[in-house]
Amino acid sequence: MLRLSGRGGAGLRAAIALAESSPGLRIALISKVYPMRSHTCAAEGGAAGVIKSDDSLEHHFNDTVGGGDWLCDQDAVDYLVQQAPRELIQLEHWGCPWSREPNGSVAVRPFGGMKKQRTWFAADKSGFHILHTLFQTSLQFPSIQRFDEYYATDLLVDDGRCQGLTAIEMRSGQMRHFHARAVIVAGGGAGRMFPFTTNGAIKTGDGMALAYRAGVPLKDMEFVQYHPTGLPSTGTLLTEACRGEGGVLLNKNGRRFLQDYGMGPETPLGKPVFKTMELGPRDRVSQAFWHEQKKGNTVPTQWGEAMLLDMRHLGEKTINERLPLVRDVSISYMGVDPVTDAVPVRPVVHYMMGGIHTDIRAATPLAGLFAAGECACVSINGANRLGSNSLTELLVFGRRAAMSAVGYLECGRGAGNDGALGALADAAQARIRALIQRSGGKESVAGLRKEMMQTMEQHAGIYRTGEGLAEACGKLADLRRRYAAIELHDRTNVYNTDLLQALELGSMLDCAEAVAVSALARKESRGAHQRLDFPERDDKNFLRHSLAAFNPSAPPRVDYRDVVITKSQPGVRDYSGGHQ
Ligand SMILES: Cc1cc2nc3c(=O)[nH]c(=O)nc-3n(C[C@H](O)[C@H](O)[C@H](O)COP(=O)(O)OP(=O)(O)OC[C@H]3O[C@@H](n4cnc5c(N)ncnc54)[C@H](O)[C@@H]3O)c2cc1C
Repeated sequence: MLRLSGRGGAGLRAAIALAESSPGLRIALISKVYPMRSHTCAAEGGAAGVIKSDDSLEHHFNDTVGGGDWLCDQDAVDYLVQQAPRELIQLEHWGCPWSREPNGSVAVRPFGGMKKQRTWFAADKSGFHILHTLFQTSLQFPSIQRFDEYYATDLLVDDGRCQGLTAIEMRSGQMRHFHARAVIVAGGGAGRMFPFTTNGAIKTGDGMALAYRAGVPLKDMEFVQYHPTGLPSTGTLLTEACRGEGGVLLNKNGRRFLQDYGMGPETPLGKPVFKTMELGPRDRVSQAFWHEQKKGNTVPTQWGEAMLLDMRHLGEKTINERLPLVRDVSISYMGVDPVTDAVPVRPVVHYMMGGIHTDIRAATPLAGLFAAGECACVSINGANRLGSNSLTELLVFGRRAAMSAVGYLECGRGAGNDGALGALADAAQARIRALIQRSGGKESVAGLRKEMMQTMEQHAGIYRTGEGLAEACGKLADLRRRYAAIELHDRTNVYNTDLLQALELGSMLDCAEAVAVSALARKESRGAHQRLDFPERDDKNFLRHSLAAFNPSAPPRVDYRDVVITKSQPGVRDYSGGHQ
């Protein structure tokens, strides 16, 4: 049997590939929410893959590697761009309703940091349609058995290999053991470490923490992506497609200020020009906002400072056709209709470039354990992900993880030692029981979570300093210690959300410490990691991936490994005129 933890886009894509390639396998799909509630459902803008005749795999490769500030593994990027069109066409064949050109061919839209139009989309509900397509396709395979609302707590590692996991069945509160010959983790991101994020409440880094505690390092965790355009009221995303369709960003004086930050010259209104101005990459645009705020050029709102996203010139027809969700959420959550008014927006935590260390086959260093999707770092995103590469990544590497797992099973070692696995599962269960029963604890989940979020926002945001990061490391180490003293209010079994939130907090604290410690150690500025005290990129010392290794009672140790460079030597990221 093969287990998958996580059933968002990556988990479902992996399950389908497994079922197709090895019909005899028994596949367990384990997820803490129903499939369609996974975060992939919220993705708006689209998925990148070369399809038009003026584009090429080489362009997609170069945009991705340059966009990632040369921290991407180039063999992995090569694989991504080659496989992308195949995966997107496969989705089409499974029924994904991609938006169309008038002549019936697949439509693509411009996206930030991309030199050509290559982002496939289904209006601005691309993730919703992708996830539906994958979920419905998965239903035709009887070998895929779903375990909805099961919360994975621990990997079972014996004999130097991963042989299953334990999970709490939420409905009953019972701990279930899943013995398996291989496990693929597809648990999604960890944006909830921060208070202001586009991420759904379930994105608490559980998948990363599962692997990390089992001895697999977390790679490049210091790279946290801010998306430039979230609604200040809620953090709800206004997709980059707003700018892909021609929306512009203004400061309080009505100036398209990105031209003042190396992303000019100003482009004609309503005609986005590739890789410049509003189609600059997310790290640069978010950083420009930070500077505008310092200069006093931002617009005050009741939720803090903002800039304005102006789409009025696109007209009601285009907005309704291409950006219906954007119009809906702007009206619902800000009371602003983009057809008649510019919408206040500000940078918001969106995506983790880092994650579980895997090789190009989506294999982790732990035998029998594979990882794909946002929880993994196969390293196609480097220091800054380009918008629309993530949906593609979860398809390409979800499938790749499945193929690698099948290969592993074929040359496989036999069944594990049931006695040893049972003892490990019992230990996991005892840990949870002790947490439920603990009394006299001084700490609350909500209290610690708030302190963690404040620490991350204050010290691990768009710009960082050594001093601030050192403070964050100290604070997070302290919070991890205090976590041992939390007390739950709910000791019942059925849907004990108090328990689940406590476990999620544990995952987030581990991930947050990996972010802060890796960020403190990286004494340079690259992509989304900007140090005010080390403002330059330092290829001599830091053209390397960081690897944070878990330690239960101390901060993680950070090691480094070389970036795979095949054909693109590090250069200058130039977004000033549409050419790299
Ligand atoms: C608002 C928004 C818009 C976005 N728009 C785009 C876009 O247009 N284009 C693009 O390329 N990217 C976009 N992204 C990024 C992209 O959507 C995500 O990176 C991607 O969908 C992650 O997919 P995933 O399969 O890795 O994880 P998810 O879809 O988040 O799924 C994770 C799964 O893991 C399960 N899980 C987690 N922890 C546990 C546990 N302890 N036990 C059991 N199960 C667990 C969950 O139940 C879930 O099924 C967007 C992200 C957001 C937040």
